[in-house]
Amino acid sequence: MYQKLIIQLLHEYPFPNTTTTMEDTQLDIHSFEGAAQGPSFTALGAVHGNEKCGTEALMRILKHIEDGDIEIIAGKFTTIPICNPRAYKQDVRFVERNLNRFMSPKENPEHYEDHLDNVICPVLDQTDFLLDLHSYTSQGEPFVFLGCLKQEDLKFSKALGVPRFIYGWADAMKKSDDVTDKHQAMGTTEYAREQGSVALTMECGTHGYERAVDFAFEAVLNALEYLKIAKVNPDLHITDLPNKNRFNIKMSGMHLKKKDGDFTDNWTNMHPVEAGTVIARYDDGEELIMPKDGYIVLPNRKAPIGHEWFFLGVEDPLE
Ligand SMILES: [Zn+2]
Repeated sequence: MYQKLIIQLLHEYPFPNTTTTMEDTQLDIHSFEGAAQGPSFTALGAVHGNEKCGTEALMRILKHIEDGDIEIIAGKFTTIPICNPRAYKQDVRFVERNLNRFMSPKENPEHYEDHLDNVICPVLDQTDFLLDLHSYTSQGEPFVFLGCLKQEDLKFSKALGVPRFIYGWADAMKKSDDVTDKHQAMGTTEYAREQGSVALTMECGTHGYERAVDFAFEAVLNALEYLKIAKVNPDLHITDLPNKNRFNIKMSGMHLKKKDGDFTDNWTNMHPVEAGTVIARYDDGEELIMPKDGYIVLPNRKAPIGHEWFFLGVEDPLE
């Protein structure tokens, strides 16, 4: 059974100072139910509007379902290819509030993204497995964000076909002295986990990485097969993706950019850094120093003041 739900936000939000169009006030939710019993799986794209690889991959998946090369046989597959339509259209990360922070149903929605929460959270409430597809700013490889190290999470993450893992994001956020409101660390996956889902974020590489869509597409295909939700034409699989050795990083801290300053180097994601290295220097001379041997995670050299500048992490065997 196939259902396409189009949710209109138009009547609920005045959209001050902007020209409202239909395209950026509607959310398309596609869901497919198989005849047999099975788990429910949800895949999200463009939670951040400028991260379009997930959207493209999910549109490709929808096309193959339509063509019959992917047959939904059990459980339920749901996808929202564009979770933040207005940010997607404007090619920005978000419009008024980072959709992937402070996520929860909002009784009195204030921001554009609050209205999106009220549509997306109920979808997440009903999903057993979640895959949220992103890309990121710094140079680096595709990787999966693990929330916890439960066996089911590890098995699901390994099934996606991505060899690199980072975990402990929410803990690193909550532990940071820079974060005062702990709800900040509530994104799609953190929200879904609170409802009992196995939930993963996949960062498919640097924004614009030419294989990001292929990585995302392959991960969704693998998830559909792993969960036994779909029968997939084997020719659809992408077999020439770069395949590195397994590598895991446990995140240990986060720094918000507090004032004007710059990195001391053009750090890439998962770049090894020795203890004592000056990572960044504020214009007033204050230095941010690597506390122990480890890695830079998700550095964002151009982060605006008040936003996440970089995370730190250590290698972890994870098994
Ligand atoms: Zn993102």
